[in-house]
Amino acid sequence: MIRVIVNGALGRMGRTVCDAVLAEEDLELVAMIDPAFNKEGSHGDPGATGIPGFSSLSVCLEQVKADVAVDFTIPDAVLTNVIACLKAEIHCVVGTTGLGEEQLLEIESQARSSGANCLIAPNFAIGAVLMMEVSRMIARHMPSCEIIELHHDQKLDAPSGTALRTADLIAREFESGAPSPAGPEGNAARGFHQGGIPIHSVRLPGLVAHQEVIFGGQGQTLSVRHDSISRESFMPGVVLAVRRVADLDGIAVGLEKVM
Ligand code: NAP
Repeated sequence: MIRVIVNGALGRMGRTVCDAVLAEEDLELVAMIDPAFNKEGSHGDPGATGIPGFSSLSVCLEQVKADVAVDFTIPDAVLTNVIACLKAEIHCVVGTTGLGEEQLLEIESQARSSGANCLIAPNFAIGAVLMMEVSRMIARHMPSCEIIELHHDQKLDAPSGTALRTADLIAREFESGAPSPAGPEGNAARGFHQGGIPIHSVRLPGLVAHQEVIFGGQGQTLSVRHDSISRESFMPGVVLAVRRVADLDGIAVGLEKVM
């Protein structure tokens, strides 16, 4: 049995993760952490299951034994959470987006010294992972491309972690490392540029998580699109990561590392 704690348990993703963990026979939800437990105590779904809810991760770590921590919180909290869990020798599965290069290095160093592993995935939807992989393959033959990512209007970061990772993967495919011949950087109307690839971010109520990668070639275009139409789309990937994170060696970025 893998004992799991969930950081951000009362958020949109956290609630869905708690339900997904509860539904798996080989996983045990042993604690939930979210600032809202401070105000309301252990309550509502998934708190109604009788599983303890903590407002403080450090108090939780003192009281609860766990094997894996899942983190779907906010960009400002995720690094502190992950470092605390790794120090406690708890493997981490991180869905929270917005972690920068420096923060990844800090996590890598902590993982190395504590012996616990960390899997960070900007997107846990299997279809989104395939979209990124297919985009990478297409870019070898059609390097000119732009990314449009569309998310719900409560999302805190932009561009999305998925769009940034897609751009990074595509940019690695460019033989010379030269950026694709897109619009000039510095022109806001041409989007955010990552690896020379323009990313356009849309935030609207009604959306969940969507991304289209459009490739342009001579007399032709090719579009690859993925739509997460509900948060359940991320759960098979989260459950897979919880089961496999112990087999990694230190830090890994991308769900494909355990697929
Ligand atoms: P959300 O609804 O705002 O949930 C975040 C939750 O974390 C809130 O309940 C928040 O509480 C809580 N929180 C804040 N600080 C915390 C801390 N220090 N410890 C524990 N909990 C804390 O956001 P969401 O829509 O669930 O998204 C969460 C993250 O997942 C975002 O970064 C989003 O981009 C990412 N995401 C990733 C994937 C993926 O596949 N990787 C998919 C979807 C979303 P308060 O409201 O009180 O601050």
